[in-house]
Amino acid sequence: MTIAPVSPVSPVQALQDAVPDAGQNTFVPPPPLQHLRSPATRATLRIQQRIVAAARELLGAEGFMELLPPTIGAVTDPGSRGAKQVDIDFYGHTYKLMTSGILYKQASLLAFDKIFNVAPNVRLEPLETATTHRHLAEFHQIDVEVAGATRDDVTALAERLVRHVVAACIADMGDELAVLGRDVDALRAIAETDFERITHREAVERLRAMGHGQSTDAELDWEGEEILSRKSLGAFFVVDYPKGSRGFYDRESATDPGVLHNFDLILPGGFGEVISGSEREYEYTRLITRMRETGENPAKYRWYLDIAREGLPASAGFGIGLERLTRCVAGLDAVWQACSFPKIPGVVSA
Ligand code: AMP
Ligand code: MG
Repeated sequence: MTIAPVSPVSPVQALQDAVPDAGQNTFVPPPPLQHLRSPATRATLRIQQRIVAAARELLGAEGFMELLPPTIGAVTDPGSRGAKQVDIDFYGHTYKLMTSGILYKQASLLAFDKIFNVAPNVRLEPLETATTHRHLAEFHQIDVEVAGATRDDVTALAERLVRHVVAACIADMGDELAVLGRDVDALRAIAETDFERITHREAVERLRAMGHGQSTDAELDWEGEEILSRKSLGAFFVVDYPKGSRGFYDRESATDPGVLHNFDLILPGGFGEVISGSEREYEYTRLITRMRETGENPAKYRWYLDIAREGLPASAGFGIGLERLTRCVAGLDAVWQACSFPKIPGVVSA
């Protein structure tokens, strides 16, 4: 029997070796004992708890129903940017771990008009995202969906929600923010300033004028997004992404074909994208067309398409990355610091 030679250095190890900083900034978390006992981790997790409570306060006051999210299901978000899905053998049937609950959020509107979940997501992000300081393989979203809403209705809601959450942390988490050395004025700039709005086209033009070669028909790349984020004092929306840059469920404009009624929210200070959202495609035939256009096989989405054929409500909604919002509020170097048991792409840890 011949034994295949074992590569002396795994791709993950090679990546780790290539990263120069070995302190708190590194993408490799410390062992759980050190991480969980650290005052910085405790302060961060308390802030995260306040973020979730504040989101529940605002959404509850606005009449939203909180539903517990599915973690496995017949369908999930097809995703983008190279993240892999995880299959589960469900009694001989292939189910998926949720990369996001978007398709279940749409279906949930059959029961209630305004819903939200605090939902875990698993995405096997590509190895190169291990060093972006903002990608985890397991993370959580505050996932919101509103029947009959437009994109502009939900950007207004997202702004109320983020400003309320940040204001609640400034008001109630002074000790924790002090432990972390967070610049509270930078947080006030988020809580107290109206969020600006630029189109994807304007964002591309700004980046190109600064010498960054952003593509016109793709999501803003991580570097470009960070450049814009660092240049801004307040949070801002990027709206109207081009078709091809996003999933089949972002609704295409009827008057401006090729443009999607969607948005991202970018936080200032280099923290970058914290929310993606859109008006949704809900009509059966349009969904089939958009699936084919985005390279998805409609047969894989039978559970969802069967519901759409019977009638999914029109809706709009968004997902907030909870660890990314926590990272910004707490002023952390990397998103894994906002987790009790971080899962960094490619890094085998907790
Ligand atoms: P998406 O619809 O893929 O943009 O995901 C919605 C939100 O979840 C994003 O705006 C991020 O805040 C967050 N998010 C997405 N992927 C990750 C990840 N790999 N790690 C941490 N947060 C993520
Ligand atoms: Mg996004």
